[in-house]
Amino acid sequence: MNAPPPRRNPDAAVYDKIVAARTPWSGLIRKGQILRIVDLEGQQAVDTLFYAAEDFGERYCAQATLAGQGSAYIGVATAILSNRGRTMATMIADTVGEHDTSAGACSCEANTIRFGHHTRYMHACRENFLVEIAKYGMTKRDIVSNINFFMNVPILPNGELAIIDGASKPQDYVELRADMDLLCVISNCPQVNNPCNGFNPTPIRVIVRAG
Ligand SMILES: [Zn+2]
Repeated sequence: MNAPPPRRNPDAAVYDKIVAARTPWSGLIRKGQILRIVDLEGQQAVDTLFYAAEDFGERYCAQATLAGQGSAYIGVATAILSNRGRTMATMIADTVGEHDTSAGACSCEANTIRFGHHTRYMHACRENFLVEIAKYGMTKRDIVSNINFFMNVPILPNGELAIIDGASKPQDYVELRADMDLLCVISNCPQVNNPCNGFNPTPIRVIVRAG
């Protein structure tokens, strides 16, 4: 007699990885799978990009996403839209409340302008992105405006964007359901010149599970 097939557990992770402080990560998320990003120690910005797995020319579009939902932050129920107007993913859980997608990713060049030339050598998100997307044949031209999960960027009354202390606590997380096959690229932000990481970059955890 054959053994019964193993019972499928929808909560079981198909992928589970700690991403060290300051480092990049990327992975394929299949349509219907759920991506959870955990801010293990709190106040850690997680710069994130999405590309359609079948055609990297289709990628996350911050402008379309914000215009589509009519508000300035990423949160529960946000449809993550592509430059072709399709829904790439939907945010289905969030223990923080709101997430930035306006302030961009730190780069060596931006560090120099914001914080002084002595920061030019410091590792930055743009460099993390470049290292990671090179694995898929992409270059600097393929980096677009990203999502900054767990980054606290209030809009001041005069319209300025401020980067202030992160609101996320240890073990806070976001969850996104992939609505198409996705390549997700992350820079676990190494910035130490402003409060986006509490001046202390820390590890995150990436979990993918069947939907
Ligand atoms: Zn950064």
